[in-house]
Amino acid sequence: MAKKPDKVRRSEEEWRKALPPETFEVCRRQGTERAFSGRYWSSKEPGLYHCAACGAPLFDAAEKFDSGTGWPSFTAPVDETAVEGRVDQSHGMLRTEAVCAVCDSHLGHVFPDGPGPGGRRYCMNSAALQHERREKGGAEGE
Ligand SMILES: [Zn+2]
Repeated sequence: MAKKPDKVRRSEEEWRKALPPETFEVCRRQGTERAFSGRYWSSKEPGLYHCAACGAPLFDAAEKFDSGTGWPSFTAPVDETAVEGRVDQSHGMLRTEAVCAVCDSHLGHVFPDGPGPGGRRYCMNSAALQHERREKGGAEGE
């Protein structure tokens, strides 16, 4: 069993100082970037996507797919405990909000129409993600 990650907690003022404005807007104020405006929606680079606020690993690029929505989309998180789902009834819709399990940052939403075996579509904001390219042959033993 994967152990639950330790929580990162900061005041909103601390987050505001620590994060770029667009990341603060998405992660801490439940904002949504404009479709096709983010840096990752069309990216096919291999590697790992981390939380832009706290650095926790969230998604593997291998789970990324082209959803046609203009937002980076994934079929599953890197670990089932990495991303938490919460009921979101804002804007007159019933949706599942996706938040970082470590720092509670807003990432995007999860929809039940994904192409993978789990049938899920993690519709994320680029501003909430930080991509880390995995170098070939860079594997290190523990
Ligand atoms: Zn986080």
